Amino acid sequence: MANVPELFGSMVFNDKKMQERLPRATYKALKKTIQNGEPLDITVANVVANAMKDWAVEMGCTHYSHWFQPMTGITAEKHDSFITPSGDDRVIMEFSGKELIKGEPDASSFPSGGIRATFEARGYTTWDPTSPAFIRDTTLYIPTAFCSYTGEVLDKKTPLLRSMERLSSVAVRMLHILGKNDVTRVITTVGPEQEYFLIDKKMYDQRPDLIYTGRTLFGAPAPKGQELDDHYFGSIKTRVAAFMKDLDNELWKLGVLAKTKHNEVAPSQHELAPIFTISNVANDHNELTMEVMQKTAEKHGLVCLLHEKPFEGVNGSGKHNNWSLSTSTGENLLDPGKQPENNLQFQLFLAAIVKAVHEYQDLLRITVATAGNDHRLGANEAPPAIISMYLGDDLGAMVDAIIKGEKYESKGKAKMLTGVDVLPDFKKDTSDRNRTSPFAFTGNKFEFRALGSSLNIGCPNYMLNTMVAEELSQFCDALEGVDDLENALKALIKKTFTEHQNIIFNGDNYSEEWVAEAARRGLCNYKTLPEAMVHYVDQKNIDLFVKNGIISEAEVRARYEIELEHYVKRLHIEALTMIDMAEKNITPAVITFVNELTQSALAKQQLSAKLSVYAEMTLIETLSDKLEAFVKKTAELEAAVESAKQYKGDNLKSAQYYRETVLALMDELRALGDAMEKKTAAKYWPYPSYGELLFGV
Ligand code: ADP
Ligand code: MG
Repeated sequence: MANVPELFGSMVFNDKKMQERLPRATYKALKKTIQNGEPLDITVANVVANAMKDWAVEMGCTHYSHWFQPMTGITAEKHDSFITPSGDDRVIMEFSGKELIKGEPDASSFPSGGIRATFEARGYTTWDPTSPAFIRDTTLYIPTAFCSYTGEVLDKKTPLLRSMERLSSVAVRMLHILGKNDVTRVITTVGPEQEYFLIDKKMYDQRPDLIYTGRTLFGAPAPKGQELDDHYFGSIKTRVAAFMKDLDNELWKLGVLAKTKHNEVAPSQHELAPIFTISNVANDHNELTMEVMQKTAEKHGLVCLLHEKPFEGVNGSGKHNNWSLSTSTGENLLDPGKQPENNLQFQLFLAAIVKAVHEYQDLLRITVATAGNDHRLGANEAPPAIISMYLGDDLGAMVDAIIKGEKYESKGKAKMLTGVDVLPDFKKDTSDRNRTSPFAFTGNKFEFRALGSSLNIGCPNYMLNTMVAEELSQFCDALEGVDDLENALKALIKKTFTEHQNIIFNGDNYSEEWVAEAARRGLCNYKTLPEAMVHYVDQKNIDLFVKNGIISEAEVRARYEIELEHYVKRLHIEALTMIDMAEKNITPAVITFVNELTQSALAKQQLSAKLSVYAEMTLIETLSDKLEAFVKKTAELEAAVESAKQYKGDNLKSAQYYRETVLALMDELRALGDAMEKKTAAKYWPYPSYGELLFGV
């Protein structure tokens, strides 16, 4: 049995180790940087670097790595050893403050969206002292931000850090207006719930589609899917439980607050939720969680799939981004308290968020747009592509009353009577859950549910922080220096709810009626990535980022290009993989099976003309027809991929073409392939079936 408190953070250069290993003055200076965002001195960095190195070497490390999050969406690392020649054919282990603060990976192959030509390869990584360094294997990992030689931001972390600073400064300004002068900082907190699939490694290895694209491109449905709901919260299989236990231990060592684990809706689908923490650390920890999940699965002969839609016909995987704001004095700004109707501060922050989500619904949609998530959003297990907010009955009614100028009394938390003497009664939450809402209020936080499972949470969080900061700063301008603050506040809250109530929807987001209703309300419904992405560079969005000092116009445009290009590349790889599977394995397999059927029919007829060849003939006919269509469709897809070249250099046109033409052909090809799979003897089919993949662990 692991001693969890001892295990927790054992691989992290955390506060305790800093206190133990750093001189007092250095520790204090570093703390100031971490807590108040003050700049760090090189002399301090030298001392910290040396202490970090000593600890790492004691722990068996030979290397350090600046760990960063380029626009590829996954983390990157380059390992340097601590060795330094000491002049006498020997080496010593050294690590300077300069090396801690600044790294210089060759940046030429990371996406920059045209900001920088590949010959201008220089890029820098800069230490983020607010996220603690940690050890994996024999390397000391240092969380860093990544920018180009000329200073352009090339990662997902820098904008997040900037947005946290920006939101903090405007929220503090607002709280000071409201008289809370003791608040010095406001932090954003995030708890990302992570969904994933676990499948057997042996089966995975036989599926080129999973290997190259993370999702199955062919696969007829198994006789059983998730219709019985017997997997959801079901008892966890031994092999999976062993994986989860190992995963918890590994994450705890890295200081990740892994808390909840359970089975999800689809067969072989699971979830892990951590306890929330400050956004940038939550971001790093989520990236680590995804990596550790994959490594740990390998140790158990499993593969962890983080794709949003690995299997057709069963639920895909998402990531719920639970988000809130808390003050340096320990107050959660999204806690409505017992009487939200009398809590003007809460109402004001709520109003800012309502306005932000309404005005920047397109950005929230854009931030969750990926090739993978396109398959999930709007399918019936996930929120639709339409962004709206759920406030629940109590807050919903409060907002209505404010708009109408009526009095409202919160129902408060009712007692839940269990009706059984031995069961304790407990207090009910003020609102039920609405699992269908993309952006739901859940007691004292918002839960943004449209994120795909593989997404780096940096981007949705910096957008969210920035849009809320923008609204709060407008509110500050309106309220600063007014004579009658209370009435000004009430008027502003009422005006905001009235103008932006269209974004609030407490009903069923999965229903047809909502799609029509949302259109009437003028809400955006961007079903696909290319449709959504064009709005990234709308003037109002560029203005938002520029005005709040998050990224420049050139950087917004670069991100837009990168996302489109990435989408095109992913679809391109998927199309090539399908063609490969079709030509190298599926077509030959069906031909072989048809040949066997033909041989059987001929042999029977030779034996006696009276023998029935009905089974053989029916199958031969069906499969021959389907195979003809399949081979023709494969050729069509090949031609479409070829003709995509005409849009080279125009990322938007390419993306639209892949979405409209290539993906449509892929769907058609798949339908034909799956129909043949159903009719082909299992021993001839070249790939493990859905049944084997989904129920094989
Ligand atoms: P559910 O599945 O019901 O949404 P979970 O317990 O699985 O609930 O996940 C809730 C998540 O919300 C956890 O990660 C939790 O730490 C996080 N959370 C709770 N309070 C806050 C908060 N104030 N800020 C951010 N996240 C929070
Ligand atoms: Mg949740």
